[in-house]
Amino acid sequence: MKRVSRPLRQDEKVLLAFLLSADFPGCDVLRMQAESTTVVGECECGCGTIGLEVGPGLPTAGLVKPHPLEAYGEMIIDVLLFVRNGFLGSLEVVFYEDSAERPYPLPAQLQSGKRPQHGRGDVSSGRES
Ligand SMILES: [Zn+2]
Repeated sequence: MKRVSRPLRQDEKVLLAFLLSADFPGCDVLRMQAESTTVVGECECGCGTIGLEVGPGLPTAGLVKPHPLEAYGEMIIDVLLFVRNGFLGSLEVVFYEDSAERPYPLPAQLQSGKRPQHGRGDVSSGRES
């Protein structure tokens, strides 16, 4: 990953907000962290994966979440937000097709959650609390 230091682009902010829109333990803190997150790394292959650094003085989300927050789009893309030690760590964009055109994913094209495994019929998202 190439080291950079820049603010989040608008489309990155939107994608981050989308991934953090789910309800889970620590989500409030992570949303707060996202407000002052800068981009400290960029993948050089052009996929859009970025490394994140949270500004100083922000609380940790407390949880060590072993699994990333995920979203997926029509067959060709997965988006994974990794939290490390309670802080936003990286936002990874995975393309399954090796195409030259790799537009940045828009929330409207994505479903949040893990890509369903083939043959599983029960989707238990959108549960009321
Ligand atoms: Zn890449």
